[in-house]
Amino acid sequence: MLEKPTPIYIVGAGPGDPELLTVKAMRLLKEADVVVYDRLVSDSILDLVPPGATRIFAGKAARDHFMPQDEINELLVSLAKSGRSAVRLKGGDPFIFGRGSEEALFLAKHNVPFEIVPGITASAGCGAYAGIPLTHRGMATGVRFVTGHCRDGVHLDLNWNSLADPDTTLVIYMGLINVQKISDELINAGLPADTPAGAIERGTTADQRTILTTLGELPACVEKAALKAPSLLIIGRVVDLANDLSWHIPALDCDVEALG
Ligand code: SAH
Repeated sequence: MLEKPTPIYIVGAGPGDPELLTVKAMRLLKEADVVVYDRLVSDSILDLVPPGATRIFAGKAARDHFMPQDEINELLVSLAKSGRSAVRLKGGDPFIFGRGSEEALFLAKHNVPFEIVPGITASAGCGAYAGIPLTHRGMATGVRFVTGHCRDGVHLDLNWNSLADPDTTLVIYMGLINVQKISDELINAGLPADTPAGAIERGTTADQRTILTTLGELPACVEKAALKAPSLLIIGRVVDLANDLSWHIPALDCDVEALG
């Protein structure tokens, strides 16, 4: 055991495209002895880890936890004490729905030094690659990031009245499972059913799929396109701009009425 543990680097890997890594993230990955990574980290990013480095999969999907959080926390502490250079690699940004802060709190409690390296969060990545600016003069004066999934067994209970604001873009992480409820609740709270809405699956990658529709038709459209995780929901006037600004991969046709 070392007297002084080495720092743990809690690093954001961005949304998928490896070119969206920060220079710092890239350097730390190249220097790593051990990389503990989540399910959301794309293969092309893992390919950047040196062949000699140990890779540890920590899992984590909305409903499957391959390695319990307590175990991940303990693992990070023991890695720091082993003196190896360890990177805790997370999809997007570690501090946005990434539990990076929970891990950092645990490290702090155990006197393990750490650094947080921000990453491009899914909102920024998907917005950019789908041609949906999250704010735009005259369309949205702000943006809110919310989770569409609560801890296991906990009912999704958001403040729908405060979220149903036509002047704010709403970005919902982990919202696929509850898309019907999200759409119903927002409409009940007064957001017009014809508010533009989109969903982006595997944004920024070569497999990106985007649907553009309205809040009322979002659940049917998600189902018709059979979108899977990871997908991000974006609701608000700005979604319409994708018709002019989409540049990466064209949106899928989602004519719900044709469903019959
Ligand atoms: N820390 C991450 C978010 C983790 S929560 C970040 O900052 O992006 C996981 C959710 O993020 C997914 O359910 C999905 O809603 C969203 N997400 C992450 N990567 C994505 C991608 N490439 N495309 C679409 N959504 C993504």
